[in-house]
Amino acid sequence: MAISKKVEKFLAGASFIRKMFEEGERLRAIYGADKVFDFTIGNPNVEPPEKFREELKKLALNPVPGMHRYMSNAGYTETRSAVAEVLKEETGLPFGPEFVVMTTGAGGAINVVLKTLLDPEDEVIVLKPYFVEYRFYVDNHGGKTVEVSTTPEFRPDLEALSRAITPRTKAIIINSPNNPTGVVYSAGELEALGKLIKQKESEYNSDIYVISDEPYAKIVYDGIKVPSVFLYLDNSLVVTSHSKDLALPGERIGYIAASPGAKDIELLMEGLVFANRTLGFVNAPALMQRLVAGLQRESVDLEEYREKRDILYNHLTSLGFEMNKPDGAFYLFPKSPLPDDGEFVRKAQEHNILLVPGAGFGLPGYFRIAYCIDKQIIINSLPSFTRLAEELDM
Ligand code: PLP
Repeated sequence: MAISKKVEKFLAGASFIRKMFEEGERLRAIYGADKVFDFTIGNPNVEPPEKFREELKKLALNPVPGMHRYMSNAGYTETRSAVAEVLKEETGLPFGPEFVVMTTGAGGAINVVLKTLLDPEDEVIVLKPYFVEYRFYVDNHGGKTVEVSTTPEFRPDLEALSRAITPRTKAIIINSPNNPTGVVYSAGELEALGKLIKQKESEYNSDIYVISDEPYAKIVYDGIKVPSVFLYLDNSLVVTSHSKDLALPGERIGYIAASPGAKDIELLMEGLVFANRTLGFVNAPALMQRLVAGLQRESVDLEEYREKRDILYNHLTSLGFEMNKPDGAFYLFPKSPLPDDGEFVRKAQEHNILLVPGAGFGLPGYFRIAYCIDKQIIINSLPSFTRLAEELDM
């Protein structure tokens, strides 16, 4: 076999995603796109805010000389300053452009941070359930992923975390608002995590960095606010993107912001800029950097997402599905009514409902619904969910 054994193994492990994609295509060809209820992918179907188009038009009509050239590997100072200004306002901390690196999405940002931090065999803690790519990203940079359970409500379990932290723990990835659960961590939870990390750092004489993956930070409901990790965690880095809040996932634009008070901050920033270059990204897309500079306070229409969440949550709970009501992101993560989440997902497919099993997020026994799809498709899906629940005698 020409490809590496490791990649071959990863491909086999991730085959359900490919199969699900192929199944969606097959069902759409038979029944038509409006009769297939594909809840598998977190690809926002809303359009970017109007201001994005206005800025794009302005730039197209008045091109800036050199606007398609390479720039500093960290990104344009103007864009990094715009990001820093909002962070300064939110936290009161002395953020400036020197603490920000523009990246190719949040995925690129996480890889840049991991490359910068990890030595071979360093451990990176992830909290179950988690965004499946973390495992591959950690492996990219020679690290070891350590999975840690959360509470039954998917909140950080400090005792489990305390047991999992070792002298080799280099980073902890947290993700709030969470994919797939929609949970938003409170200020109290971040503070408690900060205390635990400090205690472990002094016990092991080590440095542990928190990588806070926040592409859904602006996608929250019912007046919920996402507390800033910078206020509670000293060695913290926010990795994020405008894939979800401005609905620009295909444009690959995001950033890393590091806490001005983080250990070895100057060296850390130099490392991040080096990793951005040598991972082959070189710099974040120039055009997008110029556009998002003026959009730091914008977001997509949250009402649309809230309405979709409520339609599905109300219908599914009325059928007997058990789940937390998510505070953010655009996913539901109900308990599988069958012990085997894979079998449940296959049963749902027979009703043209496509879902992702919890096993795909490191937590079997659940399933994920991505509701960032057309409202009409969601409405059309409700009778099929009812028939599925009847078939399972719920
Ligand atoms: N982190 C989480 C939790 C995500 O859900 C996603 C995308 O779905 C990403 C990171 C990657 O985001 P991006 O498309 O900006 O790379």
